Amino acid sequence: MELFKYTAHQLHEKLVSKEVSAVELTKNVLARVDAVENDVKSYITQTGDSALAQAEAVDAKIKQGQAISMLAGIPGALKDNICTQGIKTTCASKILAEFVPPYNATVVEKLMTADTVIIGKANMDEFAMGGSTENSGFFTTHNPWDLRAVPGGSSGGSAAAVAAGQAIWSLGSDTGGSIRQPAAYCGLVGMKPTYGRVSRYGLVAYASSLDQIGPITRDVTDCAHVLNIICGHDAKDSTSINTLVPDYTKALVNNVKGLKIGLPREYFVSGMDSEVERAINKAIEQLVALGAEYKEISMPHTEYALSAYYLLAPAEASTNLARYDGVSFGKRVEGNDIVDMYKKTRSEFFGAEVKRRIMLGTYALSAGYQDAYYLKALKVRTLVKQDFDKAFENVDVIITPTAPTTAFRIGEKANDPLAMYLQDVCTIPVNLAGVPAVSIPCGFAANMPIGLQIIAKPLAEETLIRTAYTFEQNNDYHKGFATLGEVK
Ligand code: GLN
Repeated sequence: MELFKYTAHQLHEKLVSKEVSAVELTKNVLARVDAVENDVKSYITQTGDSALAQAEAVDAKIKQGQAISMLAGIPGALKDNICTQGIKTTCASKILAEFVPPYNATVVEKLMTADTVIIGKANMDEFAMGGSTENSGFFTTHNPWDLRAVPGGSSGGSAAAVAAGQAIWSLGSDTGGSIRQPAAYCGLVGMKPTYGRVSRYGLVAYASSLDQIGPITRDVTDCAHVLNIICGHDAKDSTSINTLVPDYTKALVNNVKGLKIGLPREYFVSGMDSEVERAINKAIEQLVALGAEYKEISMPHTEYALSAYYLLAPAEASTNLARYDGVSFGKRVEGNDIVDMYKKTRSEFFGAEVKRRIMLGTYALSAGYQDAYYLKALKVRTLVKQDFDKAFENVDVIITPTAPTTAFRIGEKANDPLAMYLQDVCTIPVNLAGVPAVSIPCGFAANMPIGLQIIAKPLAEETLIRTAYTFEQNNDYHKGFATLGEVK
């Protein structure tokens, strides 16, 4: 049986009814990893042995008649910037190629308490800087829908693994779109929760004021189940929000009657694929037919969001990455003196995009330029946030494409950073504002998946789930399985 094709909630039913065991399921997924990993290349580190031990423990619990969590025994993958005690966590960077964290991220502790099974650590763009996994310090991941295309990024390995059946669910991190864009490119559901909803403790920082961990799954129901496990206040993360976490599965309601949708005209940018635009418009029409109301809105500062992000994120990254100096963390190249050692170590082991952003960020923060660049970008961030505040006075959700196109070919934008940055135009404002958003499959263009982005107010993940679930239940886009070939 191709167990690797099922959703987590379907597999949970199979486990509790004893139709299959967690060990059988884990072996099935591990066999799938073996069969397709050479083509897809989702994983930096595989943890098959510990996965089987975790599965055995779940089978023992089931045998004893104990209740199990919704993710117990269900194989998943973690982006390789989420710290796992005793398991390499590289951030796809040569500088951390041998780094083994001495502790688990809070999300990993929560997943362990839920008895989940971890298949491996997924590939990504180095330190989460990128949108294609081509910036990985090790190798590029391929899109399971067309192996010549990128899976998106930076959580490209996490998305490809789920789309290819090498994991049933996964976690990514999203600083400017890195969960939602790869989910869109791989035909999956990907949510960036409200900033502070999920603890960042143990997530290797890229841009701390924007980073957020979230799920990548095959359907909205699984997304709700993963959120139930990973959300919540954490004293170890001072930016984590201290409010109760609802049961997100209660929001799995197939009903959008009276829901007010805003469609911001600034998001339908030039350069957007006409088929993407058509799919989004069709989705809106469908939601309206299901009882939602829709109106066009304006979010006038949208056009400045991308520039502000590409100053603020590198500025934060330049300070966050200062710690990789050959002393406390990671690798070292010896030098004549300490400054020479820093230089040699960082020159040798950081990739080109990471260096570009460290230089950009250092420049934007330097004494003569801080007011002109960093502080100005912070002001733009406030204006972008105010656009959202204003919009949410009149609408419940905002709908946009997740990305202007479907997945592009490997190599197509690799030497053009600006073209790569433009892929983030619809996702970045959401991180600047700190609000939650989800990408769900809403169609295909030339057999490649298209993503629809739904955005809501802070802590309104339930509204996202209800809207996404209603759309999903009235469509079949999430049911197809990636072909693992080349689209002719
Ligand atoms: N693609 C964006 C960037 O390169 C977003 C990355 C992210 O969300 N981690 O920064």
